[in-house]
Amino acid sequence: MPKNPTVLITGASTGIGAIYADRFARRGHDLVLVARNITRLEDVAARLRDETGVTIDILQADLTNLDELAKVEERLRDDDRIGILVNNAGGNLAGGFLTQETDAVAKLVALNTTAVVRLASAVAPRFAEAGEGAIINISSVVGLAPEFAMTVYGATKAFVTFLSQGLSLDLGPKGVYVQAVLPAATRTEIWEHSGVDVNTLSGVMEAGDLVDAALVGFDRREAVTIPPLPDAGQWDTYQAARLAILPNTRQEHPAERYRTAG
Ligand code: NAP
Repeated sequence: MPKNPTVLITGASTGIGAIYADRFARRGHDLVLVARNITRLEDVAARLRDETGVTIDILQADLTNLDELAKVEERLRDDDRIGILVNNAGGNLAGGFLTQETDAVAKLVALNTTAVVRLASAVAPRFAEAGEGAIINISSVVGLAPEFAMTVYGATKAFVTFLSQGLSLDLGPKGVYVQAVLPAATRTEIWEHSGVDVNTLSGVMEAGDLVDAALVGFDRREAVTIPPLPDAGQWDTYQAARLAILPNTRQEHPAERYRTAG
């Protein structure tokens, strides 16, 4: 794998993914940019080629379409210049569960989870074989809290965080770095697509600040990076509480409170 490997970024036509493209290009990495909107991808690529001189390829793909997703998987499997995958493409839905169409819910799950795990699965064996490589998965703090009332979106992001933590344990010893990035509200078009005016929200981070902070976590090889969280100790306490439950789950008999009389 080259010293400055090529970075494949999904959802690079706008928002957080386009900022990752900008930042990795400025670090001297060649890029493969993936999204549906070819005009926007070409605009991002043309600007970055001009400003940084790196080589940029474009792969137009709807990641909810398994045939189109397969093209991206193939590229990740076969192109050994690619050493970093940024699983960024994602969406949300307007409204609550009762008003969200079943097909739209399934499509969201396909984009936010199936595509993420298929792309990781396509590239991980090559990275593990090489003993290097990195996978950045863009999750969300919404995946920590059903209370945010974005149930399906949050469930997909809980999947992404769990997947990342599991892959970090699985692939880390083989030299592959896996990072979960958990943004909170960040100023991008995703809000408009979800039927929310981002200007009505407080505490919204600019996408550039979010990605710059996430890259600090990347350079430190953090497993989980939560750019807006002021006290990292809160995350550590949360993880410690989770781990403390585990030894107690191995029991031959149900807990006392579930035992039936007689
Ligand atoms: P965004 O501005 O709406 O951008 C989403 C990107 O994903 C676009 O490049 C879009 O490109 C691409 N995309 C959407 N559907 C796709 C599909 N079916 N196939 C291929 N590409 C597709 O959203 P963003 O805020 O930057 O979101 C990026 C990631 O950050 C997502 O995973 C999101 O869940 C996460 N996140 C965002 C926030 C936030 O507040 N913004 C907070 C937490 C987490 P095309 O339309 O050209 O396909």
